[in-house]
Amino acid sequence: MRMSKHIKKALDAFLDNMVKQKKTILTFDEYLAMATENPRHIFRNHFRFFHDVIKENILPDEDEDKNDPERIGFLRYDSSKLFEVDFDRPFFSDTLLNNKLVKAAETMYNSAQQNKIYIISGPPGSGKSACINNLLQKLEEEANSKNKQRFEILWKIDKRRLGKCVDKNNVIACKMQESSNTDPEDNIIEIPCPNHDLPILIIPKQYRVKYLKTLFENNKEFLTELGKKNYEWLFNDRCCTICESIFWNLFDMLGLEATLQMLYAQYYEFNRRLGKGITVFNPDDTEPKNPIISDATIQAELDKLFKGDYKVHYAYSKYAMVNYGFYILMDIKKKNENRLEELHNILSEGIHKIGFVEEKVNSIFIAVMNPEDLPANKGNAKESILSGKSFQDRQEFIKIPYILDPEKEISTYRATNECDFGKYFLPRVLLNFAKIVISTRMQKEIKSLNEWIGNTRKYLKYCDKDLMLLRMDLYKATIPKWLLEEDKKKFNASTRRKIISEAMEAEGSEGCSGRDSVRLFYKFYSLHKEPEKLIDMSMLIAFFKGKHEELAKTPIPDGFLDSLVKMYNYSVLQEIKESLFYYNEWQISRDVQNYLFAIFEDEGAEKICSYTGDKLKITDDLLAEMENKIIGKNIAHEQHNNFRKNTAKRLSIVLAEEIVGQKDKKITDTALYKELQDSYFNALKEKVLEPFWDNKSFRMAIKDYGKKDFNTYDERIKTNVNYLMKNLQKKFNYSENGAQEICIYAIDENIIEQFS
Ligand SMILES: [Zn+2]
Repeated sequence: MRMSKHIKKALDAFLDNMVKQKKTILTFDEYLAMATENPRHIFRNHFRFFHDVIKENILPDEDEDKNDPERIGFLRYDSSKLFEVDFDRPFFSDTLLNNKLVKAAETMYNSAQQNKIYIISGPPGSGKSACINNLLQKLEEEANSKNKQRFEILWKIDKRRLGKCVDKNNVIACKMQESSNTDPEDNIIEIPCPNHDLPILIIPKQYRVKYLKTLFENNKEFLTELGKKNYEWLFNDRCCTICESIFWNLFDMLGLEATLQMLYAQYYEFNRRLGKGITVFNPDDTEPKNPIISDATIQAELDKLFKGDYKVHYAYSKYAMVNYGFYILMDIKKKNENRLEELHNILSEGIHKIGFVEEKVNSIFIAVMNPEDLPANKGNAKESILSGKSFQDRQEFIKIPYILDPEKEISTYRATNECDFGKYFLPRVLLNFAKIVISTRMQKEIKSLNEWIGNTRKYLKYCDKDLMLLRMDLYKATIPKWLLEEDKKKFNASTRRKIISEAMEAEGSEGCSGRDSVRLFYKFYSLHKEPEKLIDMSMLIAFFKGKHEELAKTPIPDGFLDSLVKMYNYSVLQEIKESLFYYNEWQISRDVQNYLFAIFEDEGAEKICSYTGDKLKITDDLLAEMENKIIGKNIAHEQHNNFRKNTAKRLSIVLAEEIVGQKDKKITDTALYKELQDSYFNALKEKVLEPFWDNKSFRMAIKDYGKKDFNTYDERIKTNVNYLMKNLQKKFNYSENGAQEICIYAIDENIIEQFS
């Protein structure tokens, strides 16, 4: 019998895991050899580790426009690897949040400030616990994966070697019994560092600079990097008191070489359930009676080896278990309030004492909170803890708001039901459902946005008065096409930065919660789901004009629904235009290139265009004719001159900078070319509908499309209607019925008039 593929795959994965679980133990020399080969990998602390996990699992969109000179690094990201794929409860993170997380990880790594507490807050139903849980699951997986594993100290002390030096150093070790056992392993005591120290930290601090310089004398590049702030820890951190005592005891007895021979490096394994590397406390979790953790077997062995003043106390706390790892308080309530207070004391002191011994504390601390528990809300228990001065500069707030990206919002509906509901909707109607929900989560006003746009009345034809529809685009790093040229020009880097940071601070902190919106969606969907009739805008608007308890507290902003219909109509019109529009891309491109060539040539000259190979006779008329095409209308003489002068000026800069700078860059790759091409294209498109829509037969033919009567129309009309229907399906995902329906809608609603 053949093993089914399915079982075989599962078994392979299992065996693969078993191999992974086998611990690799390296000698200190092997560890150093690995470090010299790949120092960035081996000398990786928890900040670097966190940074790498975030950056490798939140991936920037490759198509991002690198030509935009005003870009601010606000990118579209794909965070599905971090939050969605292979999780029981996927979390959906939108562009704003992804940017926030990437930035937080970068700041965390670059500032390398130890012992900060990251306070993560989000309104109820924003999915913050799914966010944290998935993040922790990923951190755990990555920490144990081959390419991210980090090393920690493991002592393997050979009793026989110590026994021999008993006479020379009579107070340190007692004479070992000569073992009759032939297995040498029985003479080895293994002592793992409970603080998960990196093996390199065993080199005493005062010698470490010199040591590392020697180690990397052939790697100038890394030596320079070592001078940076984010490697300060490598020189400043000390290993724990346990390792330090063992090191100096052995050193006294055996000297450096033999001591280092007993030092090994093993993988730092994360195990959330055992509290290793990651520990998560819930409000009801109790603390053990004795906060000091020890290991009687190891302690007994150590006591046999080291006596008196040389005694090593193998004792540590819960903080040691997550050294160079993550300590999380999930929700600051009940017992977690005490834990937060304890953390407050430790972090403001910088150390933690167990008994008489100082324990170092060096982890990433995260507290998850509800917004009403934040210190800004006076009078609650956490206020006094969190607003203490010494604690204040140790706090970093990260807000997890409700989703503000319509497509991500739809993903949350999809996650709760496997059904492919998209096919029951006319295109964009589903997206508009999400936009209505999101409108309840938005602030009435974003100051920096209003400063930028000024009077919002110019957009009332298709956008809401609070410009929420514009914001929804901007927040997913999209600049909508309908934005006026004057506003596009003013949308510079500093404006963008202000808007995005204001949005990150203010938007999405109230409104219809994630849970409520899913419920609302299924209410709507089950009402209208029908194979015969696609769900359209009128159904959507009628639904939201009704009363819903999910929206009782935070209603849809006044006028938003009307504006949404206007925007919908505008978009439908664009789709129809584009679908009916036959354009010759080749011709447009040729015209623009010829124009850019001709602009610098002398009047009357006959030239071969170096871009296209076309033979041109340069005349004022030729340039003017092309300008009319690009601008889209016949313009006055003076305007021709201005346009030409301006274009020539920009072209000379482009030729000097862009093309010379990048050898293989063509004129068609430049921003100037693209702008002229777009303008040409849009000018053509604007005029496309006139001859058709004014024709009554054409409108009748659309209504008769698919019926017998359609055959009675003349060939030219039939061809054009067919062309329109095909393109609506191909370019805009309409079904055949949907394409016809939307055209009839456009005729009945007279949407051309609305935007003329
Ligand atoms: Zn240690």
